[in-house]
Amino acid sequence: MQVRLLGTGTSQGVPIIGCHCPVCSSADARDKRLRTSALVSVDDLNILIDTGPDLRQQLLRAGVTRLDAVLYTHEHKDHTAGLDDVRPINFLMKQTLNLYGLPRVMRALHREFEYAFATHKYPGVPTIALNPVQPKPFFIQDIEIQPIKVRHLALPILGYRIRNFAYITDASFIADTELQKLTGLEVLVINSLRKEEHYSHFNLEQTLNVIRQVRPARAYLTHVSHEMGTYEAVAPTLPDNVFLGIDNEVITV
Ligand SMILES: [Zn+2]
Ligand SMILES: [Zn+2]
Ligand SMILES: [Zn+2]
Repeated sequence: MQVRLLGTGTSQGVPIIGCHCPVCSSADARDKRLRTSALVSVDDLNILIDTGPDLRQQLLRAGVTRLDAVLYTHEHKDHTAGLDDVRPINFLMKQTLNLYGLPRVMRALHREFEYAFATHKYPGVPTIALNPVQPKPFFIQDIEIQPIKVRHLALPILGYRIRNFAYITDASFIADTELQKLTGLEVLVINSLRKEEHYSHFNLEQTLNVIRQVRPARAYLTHVSHEMGTYEAVAPTLPDNVFLGIDNEVITV
């Protein structure tokens, strides 16, 4: 299995428009973060997690020409706004793209991309199908997907486990019962916003606490803000098995 981190930045991305802080001004490519998303290639399937506003640029940069499914973590715009950019994939594959997520998230996509579901569609709109899922295991072809229920402030949202890989973003709380579903991981990708606490996202210390509890072989931090610091400054301070995610890096699981 391979996991490509298509984007590792928080909702505004890094750099932020108009910000002149050392991170946003950094010349280091590792400090450039598009909005959080990942592509999981497992057996012959390409499973995309979220469709943020940078999706077009991310698919071009990674040379992606095939998508078999999209898993949604939640409905916030930094995770959904790029959905229209799956159209070229529809045209190449000549088939409907299946989207999976909580019923509430599927309803939000239906509302916000209503033209894609119209009875008489304008030619060229995305060809997509909504598949509401409950927080219990389901299959995409023969790949088992295990949703992990986490909280994003008060909002219940999903992370996903596929074999010995798990992806969690935008979490600020994970119950013990869900942490138990994360044991025995080879790779955990998990959100970490910045060093200071935040009301709706784990900060670095909270993320490291989760990592210490579930003990993955390796962990990669995503949904990173400019307030985290530069890659060069932060990376050496992390435990040996914890890495600051880098945009477009490919992780072999
Ligand atoms: Zn987000
Ligand atoms: Zn900045
Ligand atoms: Zn969010």
